Amino acid sequence: MTSREQPTSETDERLILETDGLTKRFGGLTAVDDVDFELPEGELRCLIGPNGAGKSTFLKLVTGAHSPTSGTVRFDGEDITGLEPHDRVRRGMSLKFQQISTYQALTVEQNLRVPTQRIRSGQEATDRVEELLDIIGLSDRRTERAGSLAHGDQQWLEIAMAMATDPKLLLLDEPTAGMTVEETQETGELIQDLVDEGVTILVVEHDINLVRQIADRVTVLHQGRIFTEGTVEEITADEDVKRIYLGKAAEGSA
Ligand code: ADP
Ligand code: MG
Repeated sequence: MTSREQPTSETDERLILETDGLTKRFGGLTAVDDVDFELPEGELRCLIGPNGAGKSTFLKLVTGAHSPTSGTVRFDGEDITGLEPHDRVRRGMSLKFQQISTYQALTVEQNLRVPTQRIRSGQEATDRVEELLDIIGLSDRRTERAGSLAHGDQQWLEIAMAMATDPKLLLLDEPTAGMTVEETQETGELIQDLVDEGVTILVVEHDINLVRQIADRVTVLHQGRIFTEGTVEEITADEDVKRIYLGKAAEGSA
């Protein structure tokens, strides 16, 4: 068997995202180092790893915010390595950043209308906005200004905005950063509801309890490389994974 053959029987599963030798250098630092990554359609994958492992940089290579030093990105069966970020969005890729990017002065509903109207108009747009308000539980607070929302609600609004264009792939970079335990748990439920809508999700997450709650599979990144991949059970039982986290324990993450 050649190295390209899959060891599993699921060789017919469709890949929504695939990177081949993906590498990003910043001067002398290799932030993402020769990453071969595969994400089958419909999966909820968590990407974890210590601070500085290259998780955010990897997501930025996928969205086109950074161009790779070398390697390729395939999305939905096509090589998109040279495409601009907006072309990737148009093809069905959506990203929620770590930083808040709602329109603070607009209402919750207006924030959802902006991205929804990129692909829908009239009653269809109105219906989709209603659905999204319902998914994030903000229907009765639609007239509140986004800037006045609590941190957790604001994050959920952003996730809904990212879903407004019916993406095939949703990328979430630390969606629970700064959230309470309760908000984190609710975010997990929200993310699982989105999977039921048919979107494939790749989420960078530092809270291992949330990873346990939601992940189909986990990819561990360390020093820019894929350290290991597996089910949550496999990953959390892995002594080498514990070791790379313990090495960073003083920073209080993981
Ligand atoms: P993570 O999200 O896993 O914490 P990052 O992808 O943010 O890690 O960063 C990986 C490494 O790349 C870190 O050492 C970081 O300092 C470096 N890095 C990230 N972005 C840049 C940049 N724009 N310029 C230079 N170095 C960067
Ligand atoms: Mg990061």
